[in-house]
Amino acid sequence: METTVLKKIWLSPPHMGTNEEVYVQEAFDTNWIAPLGPNVQQFETAIEEFIGKDIHSACLVSGTAAIHLGLQLLGVNRGDEVICQSFTFAASANPIAYLGASPVFVDSERETWNMSPELMEEAIIDGIHRGKKPKAIIPVHLYGMPYKIDEIHAIANKYDIPILEDSAEALGSSYKGQMCGSFGEIGILSFNGNKIITTSGGGAMLCKSKSLKEKAVFLSTQARDNAPHYQHSHIGYNYRMSNVVAGIGRGQMEVLKDRVKARRRNFEYYKRYLSDLGGISFLEEPEGTYCNRWLTCILTPSFEIREQLRLALENENIESRPLWKPMHLQPVFEGYKSHETGVSEELFNTGLCLPSGSSMEIEDLERICKIIKNKFQ
Ligand SMILES: *Cc1c(COP(=O)(O)O)cnc(C)c1O
Repeated sequence: METTVLKKIWLSPPHMGTNEEVYVQEAFDTNWIAPLGPNVQQFETAIEEFIGKDIHSACLVSGTAAIHLGLQLLGVNRGDEVICQSFTFAASANPIAYLGASPVFVDSERETWNMSPELMEEAIIDGIHRGKKPKAIIPVHLYGMPYKIDEIHAIANKYDIPILEDSAEALGSSYKGQMCGSFGEIGILSFNGNKIITTSGGGAMLCKSKSLKEKAVFLSTQARDNAPHYQHSHIGYNYRMSNVVAGIGRGQMEVLKDRVKARRRNFEYYKRYLSDLGGISFLEEPEGTYCNRWLTCILTPSFEIREQLRLALENENIESRPLWKPMHLQPVFEGYKSHETGVSEELFNTGLCLPSGSSMEIEDLERICKIIKNKFQ
């Protein structure tokens, strides 16, 4: 018996442009098959020009590695506490544990789905009362939506606590004309396979001074002191991006603006066709905010309806996914402090990420919307 297999639609697949292979070939032609090299420098320059604000960037093997190095550069040590947005991917919080520090999780507000400024201040005050003033704060621009930047940074400044800005999902998003990734003492980007641009795997640390970048590069290349032999006075890491991988990144930077446009088009399409259905809602951009719409997310009236939609799509070979499961509900982080209101738990229970790749065709969007509409008729 013959069965026709429906075309698979992925949640967020890689989308190569035209010059990625040219730059990778350059690495082969010049035998720069190593960490460091001209592609890494050019990729960093392209990132710095895109982000603006005199930001310096260090390309690394992953966004997770960037958070690990970033926290270390902010002085996080064994036994310290670090405030972290609970509603995020585990990679935001894992590096806190790598350093022997403890995360304190903070729930979200409803306007951007990111860290609630009020709860964050409550967590800071609680920490100070226990003699454990937080060493750093990790807010996240989840799904590319900027967190409440003015409020979060004003509170962090008031208590003099540095911010590590997790911009892994927010390359191309901005607030009041300033690019995400440039607000924190340190920012991070990810170029993992599912992100808005990808190098297969990779990340970058962003910072405001050349000397901090140099420290990051030093630590990421095994912390070799300046000597003809191998001399070390610090524990180093092997976290530097390879020159081959950076070739992909150079090509991807040339199409980044188009990728953001395509993702925003997906969002607008879904919103136009689905927002008049029973109880489906979308996350709107607050005043001054520009969101890259990395993933389009919908909120449904209940867990049951969310699951019905997810399974109906799966049945037609279409990948969708519940929103991130908050860190304070993850078994691995049981027993750590958290400040909750139930907002992120509710988002997790009723929300669904729809396919959002920049290479999706209008026919794909049509197909997805029809399946969802049918569930409501
Ligand atoms: C992807 C992601 C990371 C980690 O980036 P990798 O490059 O995959 O290590 C960190 N934080 C958030 C919010 C992410 O989505």
